[in-house]
Amino acid sequence: MNSSEKIPVGISSCLLGNEVRHNGGHKRDSYINGTLSRFFDLEPFCPEVGIGMGVPRPAIRLIASDGEARAVGVKDPAMDVTDQLKAYTDEQGDAIAPLRGFILKKGSPSCGMERVKLYNDKGMPENRGVGIFARGLMARFPLLPVEEEGRLGEPRLRENFIQRVFIYHRWRNLMAEGLTVAALTDFHARIKLTLMSHDQQAARELGRIAAGANPDNLDDIAGDYIALAMTTLKKVATRKNHVNVLQHIQGYLKRNLDGDDKAELGETIEAYYRGEVPLIVPITLLRHFFRKSPDPYIERSWYMAPYPGELRLRNLL
Ligand code: SF4
Repeated sequence: MNSSEKIPVGISSCLLGNEVRHNGGHKRDSYINGTLSRFFDLEPFCPEVGIGMGVPRPAIRLIASDGEARAVGVKDPAMDVTDQLKAYTDEQGDAIAPLRGFILKKGSPSCGMERVKLYNDKGMPENRGVGIFARGLMARFPLLPVEEEGRLGEPRLRENFIQRVFIYHRWRNLMAEGLTVAALTDFHARIKLTLMSHDQQAARELGRIAAGANPDNLDDIAGDYIALAMTTLKKVATRKNHVNVLQHIQGYLKRNLDGDDKAELGETIEAYYRGEVPLIVPITLLRHFFRKSPDPYIERSWYMAPYPGELRLRNLL
């Protein structure tokens, strides 16, 4: 991947500062418009404007009706735009297909990914709804990394989403180049340590899936592989799993470190485990040792450099 290439990511338009909300306002998010926009090419979508509701427009909300959520007017419940919002998701399919991630506006009856207010038949809100556009988006593009701007404020969720976008981007590029058995094997080798940091058992299962690929079953195997990989990556990596991975990486240095270096590395990994230093500290020390004693497997592993360091995501883990 070219380091200057921006990755295409969809976004609820109001988060970019576009004045498309029902009241003519916006919900500009400074982290997205500042840091993330340097790495992501943000493509705006506003489902409510997209179906012709205009700005300003009557506010809508989700109501539970016959076991499904419907988007209706707050003041005029007879105004039901559910079917139009569903149709918009379908119509935008070609525009969404090239994207490598999507950032949604939380709480919106159109864009909210989870915990949107869903009004029951007594008119009481329950935080269990999903926006109509968001639901269609996630159903049609199940591999696509999706997150809400509110959750991006939490460092571990932020890192998790951004890492998924970069990995999905690499996968899509691989598919565009034409997948081969060797390329799938190489992809797994590069992502394996990252997968281990999320779920060790799933990482082993993915190793078995990749190892079963041959030219005749490659398409099926690739589909199974990336579906399980993207699901695995959604699980937030734990400190304990990171420690296991760091110790595993340390094993590649065992013949190259003297006693002092070994002790320093071991202590740094323990300090990370105790929460005294962030993940970037043991990673930086490992990089330092591998500069002196390079290892081709570790050098190519995306665990060591999952995304541009300027994002500084591992400084907060
Ligand atoms: S939340 Fe979605 S529908 Fe509402 S203004 Fe933002 S982009 Fe438009």
